[in-house]
Amino acid sequence: CGIVGYAGNVETACGKPLEVCLQGLKRLEYRGYDSAGVALSAPGMEQVAVRKKAGRLANLVEDIERNPMPAATVGIGHTRWATNGVPSDVNAHPHTSRDGKVAIIHNGIIENASQLRLDLQAEGYRFSSSTDTEVAAKLLGKIVDAIIAETGKPDLFEAIRRLARMLEGAFTILATDCRQPDIIVGARHDSPLVVGLGDGENFLGSDVAAFVAYTKRALEVDQDQAVCVSANSVTVTDFDGNVIEDPKTYTVDWD
Ligand code: GLU
Repeated sequence: CGIVGYAGNVETACGKPLEVCLQGLKRLEYRGYDSAGVALSAPGMEQVAVRKKAGRLANLVEDIERNPMPAATVGIGHTRWATNGVPSDVNAHPHTSRDGKVAIIHNGIIENASQLRLDLQAEGYRFSSSTDTEVAAKLLGKIVDAIIAETGKPDLFEAIRRLARMLEGAFTILATDCRQPDIIVGARHDSPLVVGLGDGENFLGSDVAAFVAYTKRALEVDQDQAVCVSANSVTVTDFDGNVIEDPKTYTVDWD
């Protein structure tokens, strides 16, 4: 339903990824939703830090105040409008890979999730939720593992393109991997994704409302494109990895 993302660096980030995600989710709250959640990555983490709660955003905020989350360089946040699986804590996004090193958030409906889930279950993968999104999370983790086996290092940007080529249906997906805590990657098909251009930091949103409190410079990710955002760079490609040379940027007209 609502998506927000943030990429900073060690100097500027710390508590900022969480602050931006919660701020963004608050701005997207007018859409209404069933649950809210965030995932954070930082250098040295063994797994992505994930927190999620059914119900209003206030439930999540309260939970984090009681039990604070670690400092981070990048983060993603989601408010869910349940389509596959009831509203609950386990069905809330983010969803994670088998090893907990990769987390994703997703807007839309993945039409071939049942078949993909059966294929993964046949390989021994187990699922804790009944969402289509967890299928994409497990699959993305598997793709990253395959890339590490091929090249010796993780490549989340390449992984999300491979994932996008395997999915049918509508999606905006953002992902973080604790082994690459300097980037957030995204991909979209039949569902919107916008980049907010900052100074030494960059933002992502399903809607400019997610980041307009921080920057009014925006870049539209087009249909069937993937994006990799760090504190100081934004790279857009098609799902085959061809770089889009001059992605269209604009200034958000918003008071
Ligand atoms: N299909 C996903 C789910 O049910 C995402 C729904 C959404 O767009 O929020 O969890």
